[in-house]
Amino acid sequence: MRIAVLKERAPGESRVAITPETVKKFTALGATIAVEEGAGHAASIPDEAYREAGAEVATGPKAVEGADIVLGVQAPDVAALAGAKPGAWVAATFDPFRNGELVEAYAKAGFEALSMEFMPRITRAQSMDVLSSQSNLAGYKAVLTAANEYGRAFPMMMTAAGTVQAAKVFVMGVGVAGLQAIATAKRLGAQVSATDVRSATKEQIQSLGAKPVFVEEVAGIEGEGSGGYAAEMSEEYQKAQAELVSSHIAKQDIVITTALIPGRPAPRLISDAQIASMKPGSVIFDLAVAQGGNVEGSSPDETVVKHGVKIIGFSNTATHLAADASALFARNLFNFLSAFWDNEAGKPILDDEIGNAVRLTQGGKVVSERLT
Ligand code: NAD
Repeated sequence: MRIAVLKERAPGESRVAITPETVKKFTALGATIAVEEGAGHAASIPDEAYREAGAEVATGPKAVEGADIVLGVQAPDVAALAGAKPGAWVAATFDPFRNGELVEAYAKAGFEALSMEFMPRITRAQSMDVLSSQSNLAGYKAVLTAANEYGRAFPMMMTAAGTVQAAKVFVMGVGVAGLQAIATAKRLGAQVSATDVRSATKEQIQSLGAKPVFVEEVAGIEGEGSGGYAAEMSEEYQKAQAELVSSHIAKQDIVITTALIPGRPAPRLISDAQIASMKPGSVIFDLAVAQGGNVEGSSPDETVVKHGVKIIGFSNTATHLAADASALFARNLFNFLSAFWDNEAGKPILDDEIGNAVRLTQGGKVVSERLT
């Protein structure tokens, strides 16, 4: 069983899909690991650390030669996989709803694409879920970045020169990223409020010491929602939400938006008119900017200033915490493959529940139900 890991090639991607820790763990299962030279540099992992952990460090083509499994953060182009075994598995993120051509190319080349974004949200798959591990770090980074852009302080300070008011932070979308954003903003001393369409989040917001702000007159999603995910809301709900947000947002200094709907563009939560109602110097961090954005006018990796309000958001937030993001991502991949490791066969054998959920291509075809 040869597992190969290439240096990430997407612009701005500094994570890596394997760490010396997971090299050792895979080796203990009986696998041979090959890592492309420089693959960990941007995540502060030198080639030497991989060698010491027992990996072979080689050029990309040499590392991939004869590989049964290739691991990636963002799935490599098919051309980079030349020399891998026929039918080799590639476990990575594929952004499958938006990367149809890449998925087709994997099918055509006969590789088995395993999309980590399609990991089901079931208890036993929690430790394999890259969306959770990366969103958690992204929620933290969003608050720190917004705090940095904000020309005032977060905590209340009573000084000899007078009092500095605590910042008011509003978090929209309380999934994994939103919960971490609330916790981070609280730790920095801000006054925090938050909203979501799923009623189950109300208690979670309160348990972090923040104030829930919810649409009351139109029903949202009772409980967790299907598989923990939200759906697109009715026009009536959207209207009620817009009214609620309009009255709340004008009093906020920082807004962090994190709302996503799987397979759909991110819902629009903040309009230009609502931005205009905020105080100059306020900051909005749009964590959904790469999925179309929750905020009107947001643009990935740019600071857009509208009505004196700074609107920011990264195309890839987790890459700004490359070392921790890589460590968690690599563990997610190890937890996934090791859970299915068959010692007799010396390789992982996936079950139907998880295998069929994550598998995009097999035997030359696109096989994912969510795509076909
Ligand atoms: P996500 O990234 O899909 O969405 C972020 C949040 O935005 C969600 O809370 C969603 O309800 C909210 N949202 C969507 N549309 C909105 C709108 N119009 N207005 C306001 N908010 C809106 O979600 P996520 O962070 O991946 O997690 C969602 C849930 O799934 C959480 O409860 C989480 O604990 C659970 N989860 C479970 C597992 C597991 O059991 N393996 C793994 C991951 C997540």
